[in-house]
Amino acid sequence: MSNRDNIFPTYNPPAIDFVKGEGVWLTDSKGDRYLDFISGISVNTLGHAHPALVGALTEQAGKLWHLSNMFDVPGQQALAKAYCDATFADRVFFANSGSEAVELTLKTARRYHFERGDEKRIKIIGFDGSFHGRTYAAVNASGNPNYLKGFGPRLPGYVQLPFGDHDALTAEMDDTVAAIIIEPVQGEGGLRPVPEQCLQGLRKLCDEHGALLIYDEVQCGAGRTGKLFAHQWYENAQPDLMACAKGVGGGFPMGFTMATEEVGSVMVPGTHGSTYGGNALAMAVGAKVFDYIGDDKFMANLNEVAAEFEAGLLNMANQKYPEYIEGVRGKGLLIGFKLKVPNMIVRTIARDDHHFLIGTAGDNVVRMAPALNVTHEECKTALSKLDDVFAQMKRDGVKAG
Ligand SMILES: *Cc1c(COP(=O)(O)O)cnc(C)c1O
Repeated sequence: MSNRDNIFPTYNPPAIDFVKGEGVWLTDSKGDRYLDFISGISVNTLGHAHPALVGALTEQAGKLWHLSNMFDVPGQQALAKAYCDATFADRVFFANSGSEAVELTLKTARRYHFERGDEKRIKIIGFDGSFHGRTYAAVNASGNPNYLKGFGPRLPGYVQLPFGDHDALTAEMDDTVAAIIIEPVQGEGGLRPVPEQCLQGLRKLCDEHGALLIYDEVQCGAGRTGKLFAHQWYENAQPDLMACAKGVGGGFPMGFTMATEEVGSVMVPGTHGSTYGGNALAMAVGAKVFDYIGDDKFMANLNEVAAEFEAGLLNMANQKYPEYIEGVRGKGLLIGFKLKVPNMIVRTIARDDHHFLIGTAGDNVVRMAPALNVTHEECKTALSKLDDVFAQMKRDGVKAG
């Protein structure tokens, strides 16, 4: 690993220097190949260096990079329309990251009530274990006090409730609630999908109390769970606002906030902005990513591959290594194990001894998020590498507990 003396010590990467990527494979400077099943944490939607994305980016790079939103940026309306036609939404605001996309859902929710003369509605209800990003509002909305530690004072109006505690939620619903924010599949918190009736219940509760429902699909959106957005698995569970990022840019920094006409239209000139948001390069890449994840055939194939992969993981959890694995977590290609041994051990053995890259998540989970165009063969290779990891732990006498 290179010298990092001049970099903020916020990250602690292993001593591997990747220099090149192709599909689900990464190569380091020694020429060693690693199977990448974390994809920049759910970002590299089509794997590394996908020819269609390289083509879209380089073609746009030769034409026009950046204009500022003081002008009409090529590609914005077309991409916004594509996402709106495929979802609940009527309006899109382009930003650069998930945190920014979340930040705008929160601002818009408060502004919506403000415009209706209901200024007391400032409460934002979130849930334990949730992760909404690292900006000041996002860490206040997130359900993990560590993200806020040392960054006080806590902003007024942010409340976190236990995950799945219906009584706590109804008790909190009053006429000061601006919005509820939730990840339809919790990513960082441990790959926990929210059950259908819970999302439907949240929708109903928000309607009854005049509050808005915000989904954070930064991690579970962009086709990751086998639908364009995770909540689209369910009927009658649409949000008013949604934050998207990570996979929608396929590795190019991009995020956006989506809203219904009623809600999005309150953000009139002067209320919000972004210098880079939705620049021409991001739009070119984002449009190409959408060509894939917006396509039914691509999704059908993804769901087939994901189902087979999940079956392999279930077999490992239930038959082969129940002493190490408590169960399978997640949905589609955002999937992993809840473990009985520390997740860090499994992740590190996988990486260092088997050149297999996976992530960790809260609640002692190992997380996988391979490229969405991953093949059956590549998933089989991943399963065999996982098998090697647990077999090695068994040989070495690693004990759970
Ligand atoms: C990653 C993530 C974010 C933050 O996105 P950034 O691009 O890192 O700002 C927000 N919400 C969820 C659910 C995420 O997974």
